Amino acid sequence: MTLPGPVFFTSSIMPVMRGLVLKGGGRKVVPLRVRVGYFHHPKLGHTLIDTGYSKHVFSLTKQDWFLKLYGLLLRPKIINDAPLESGLARLGLQPVDIDTVIITHFHADHIGGLRDLPQARFLCSKAAWQSLQAKTRISNALEGVYPTLLPDDFETRLSFIEDNGGERNATDGTDIAGDGSLIAIALPGHLEGQIGVFFPQTDPPFLYAADVQWARDALLENKMPGFPANRTYNNRVEAMESVEKIQAYMKQGADVLLCHDWHLHERDIDRNVPAEGAAG
Ligand SMILES: [Zn+2]
Repeated sequence: MTLPGPVFFTSSIMPVMRGLVLKGGGRKVVPLRVRVGYFHHPKLGHTLIDTGYSKHVFSLTKQDWFLKLYGLLLRPKIINDAPLESGLARLGLQPVDIDTVIITHFHADHIGGLRDLPQARFLCSKAAWQSLQAKTRISNALEGVYPTLLPDDFETRLSFIEDNGGERNATDGTDIAGDGSLIAIALPGHLEGQIGVFFPQTDPPFLYAADVQWARDALLENKMPGFPANRTYNNRVEAMESVEKIQAYMKQGADVLLCHDWHLHERDIDRNVPAEGAAG
């Protein structure tokens, strides 16, 4: 069945204790995914939402001492040497085919593959880019942001969603392509300038909520992450407001997907990707 709107593949599986991402969730290990979204749009072309992890997270550690520390602390894994290539191959595409990447936020597990997309132009929120630029390397690193992962010509290929299509509309979002088919929803709190992407014309309306939470159960049961994940907010008050915003969309019938939720979603095209640890 072909669903309108985006599909998703996985660049990385991170086994974590359920209680870490869901307060009171216990010690059971669940396989968090790091998803990459894909859709085709008449104006934007072949479009990705984020890129997931890539080998650059490991290979650029000589140039970036902070990225090395990140790798040592988080021990990120990728499903193979080239997760972006293999994910795109499922869609009959190569990295060179990608025209546009919508960057929800600049965490390493969302921008790790940007260097592998030579033809793509990039879209993000002004707030996300301005925050990254205003901070020192250390401040960025402490928030999980490593500009080393950006292509050398990143800025020449970057535009802001606020300048691209158009107007803010009644759903508190920015019309990314100017045709009402995809709306950037501001979801600050996890990281400054984070956006989700809402597809109001799919049935049901679909909202990719990036990292507003790690676990769908946390949204449904109104539970926050456990310690220490609950210390990672850039702004806790804004994070709570973003969660409430997503819950309001859910109440209105929107189908919500998070980047890292371990439950398979019908838009996941790589259901056979091995889930290390345990099934959810
Ligand atoms: Zn994040």
